[in-house]
Amino acid sequence: MGFFGGKKHGADLYVDLGTANTLVVSRSKGIVVNEPSVIAYYEDSEGHKRIVAVGEEAKLKIGKTPGNLVAGHPLRDGVIAELDIAEQMLRYFIERAQTWRLKKPRVVVSLPYGVTDIEKKAVRDAGLAAGAAEVLLIDEPMAAAMGADLPVHQPQGNMVIDIGGGTTEIALISLYGIVHCEAVRVGGHKFDRAIVQYIRRHYNLIVGDQSAERLKITLGSALPGGMGGKSQIRGVDFVSGLPRSIEITSAEVSEALESDLNIIFEAARRTLEQAPPDLVPDIIKHGVVVAGGGALLHGMEERLMSELNVPVRIATDPLLTIALGGQRAIQDADLLERITL
Ligand code: ADP
Ligand code: MG
Repeated sequence: MGFFGGKKHGADLYVDLGTANTLVVSRSKGIVVNEPSVIAYYEDSEGHKRIVAVGEEAKLKIGKTPGNLVAGHPLRDGVIAELDIAEQMLRYFIERAQTWRLKKPRVVVSLPYGVTDIEKKAVRDAGLAAGAAEVLLIDEPMAAAMGADLPVHQPQGNMVIDIGGGTTEIALISLYGIVHCEAVRVGGHKFDRAIVQYIRRHYNLIVGDQSAERLKITLGSALPGGMGGKSQIRGVDFVSGLPRSIEITSAEVSEALESDLNIIFEAARRTLEQAPPDLVPDIIKHGVVVAGGGALLHGMEERLMSELNVPVRIATDPLLTIALGGQRAIQDADLLERITL
């Protein structure tokens, strides 16, 4: 653009539309929304939906809703699965973030690498329907790398692993571009499901996803053998249907996670093996950065280091890394122009 294009403009808002959590960043105010990507609504017999709660409040209703009240995630595997409710959720969050009244915002949204044109259009349409003047798209791994302060502008190899709710994305980045990216359908939600299944198989007990998530966070570890400790968990007996409690150890919770963790480690090793040889020394020098909520799993840094044989660093605040990268993008018009899809 440069000389004749006049002043480049950045954007007003950035949305990290995650499978588990949505964050909205305003150029002037920083992070203004940080809530679960959940929406609760009533559906009548004609299929009309009436939204009753979004975010934290809606998450409290998951698994506890009577009859025709539905609470769920409109995104799956990082992409919009239910367009109409995703649009409503986005509208709600954008409205909440709105710090001005006169002008429709220019909104940047990040997407998992390699999504289809149809998925891109779904997000654009949802953003426009939600009140955006314009919707710009950027790659999520790029936002993750920028948020983790990796020098994406340098002709050097950067490797970032984003362990989110629905997927894990492993990317190699150099000079504002994604050199290689691999995504696996394993993330925090899959870990929770694995714990649910483990407890059903070993104890004939059905526990909820949210109880499993709590076990993962308090007792789960990426290290074989766990971190020690145990906890009581309540559920419903698979046979009798009656409530019952069991005691479960950190080693058991961690064992439940092992096969899903291995899918992530294998993908990360493949990415390293396939990296262009010129980029490998940089990766070894600067280390692999891990972001996303899954990076907070106990022992992740140590385990990844031993699995990959390269230095590994957990991003400073993994649940915010992508949003911080997006913040840099909306504040810097040149950068935004370079990375917009
Ligand atoms: P997304 O970008 O897909 O919305 P996030 O990066 O927000 O996902 O990560 C959400 C996931 O991180 C959830 O599955 C959550 O259980 C998990 N998570 C959050 N904190 C921790 C923790 N301390 N240990 C392990 N997992 C965690
Ligand atoms: Mg994410």
